Amino acid sequence: RAKQEGRNTYRLYRADMHAQDSQRLALETALRNTAETGDGLVVHYQPLFDRDSGQIRGAEALVRWQHPTLGMISPGDFIPLAESSGLILPLGEQLIDVIMGQLRAWHQAGLDPVPVAINLSPRQFWQSGLAEWVGQRLAHHDLPARLVGFELTESCLLDQSQAAAAILRGLQSLGCFTAIDDFGTGYSSLSYLQDLPFNELKVDRTFIRRLNDGTRSSRAILGAVTGLASELGLTVVAEGVETAEQLERLKPYQIDLIQGFLMGRPSPAATFADTWLAPRRMTADDASDR
Ligand code: C2E
Ligand code: MG
Ligand code: MG
Ligand code: MG
Repeated sequence: RAKQEGRNTYRLYRADMHAQDSQRLALETALRNTAETGDGLVVHYQPLFDRDSGQIRGAEALVRWQHPTLGMISPGDFIPLAESSGLILPLGEQLIDVIMGQLRAWHQAGLDPVPVAINLSPRQFWQSGLAEWVGQRLAHHDLPARLVGFELTESCLLDQSQAAAAILRGLQSLGCFTAIDDFGTGYSSLSYLQDLPFNELKVDRTFIRRLNDGTRSSRAILGAVTGLASELGLTVVAEGVETAEQLERLKPYQIDLIQGFLMGRPSPAATFADTWLAPRRMTADDASDR
């Protein structure tokens, strides 16, 4: 009997493994198709506001994947597969074109686009020729570089800060802005802030959430990080602001921009534009447009 049970168990296990493998393969095949054609790539935009004036200052582009049968998949559920399979490279290129195309479309529709931050995963960041490629795409879409920036997490930077600095400088010298994302979650080192050319620091939302505990150490850490970043001339962003109470608690800190569900959720491009983008004023530039 034991032998039989063992055999059954073995078979079940095999069947299960097979199901998982083929599921993963099917997902990867569908993702490859999206990476090649761009079909199914959906970008949502979440606004960032000036903490003191309440004015909109930018947006973050957040990708979703519209799967043919599974519906809308969030980035946490497919970016890791994209990254491990290498599909993140063609996918990321499609994505940058979608976002730049959107900025151009807003401009052409008579709206005043805000700067948009694009998330980069490690493989994208380290792909050789990144800045040159971005420069080409900006020219192709006829966009000013100041409308586009890049966010990366500390996992992009590990042990490679010299080389990372060169890539960041490449992006900055195009005129794009650079941001360190989810600061404080990885192997955070305050020395990154001195060594690496970032324009912006985004304090991870766990720090904002921890303020709710009201502990002295949470306040001390947030105070130190925002104080130093601000002193170094970085734009400081608080992400994940969900409640009016949290916003109130942020008051004593040197925070420039705020982002979170309280002020605005990520939304499809059309909704974002209707809600947040102002009509564009004519400028000398427009007048000289052919
Ligand atoms: P992230 O770059 O830190 O993006 C912020 C995430 O926090 C987004 O989740 C956003 O929807 C969510 N968020 C914003 N405000 C709040 C809030 O008040 N409360 C809470 N609880 N969450 C808030 P999302 O869209 O699921 O993205 C998750 C992560 O996936 C991103 O984290 C980013 O690391 C990655 N990701 C998103 N889009 C892209 C992309 O185009 N390329 C790459 N490589 N990664 C991306
Ligand atoms: Mg981000
Ligand atoms: Mg973030
Ligand atoms: Mg985050």
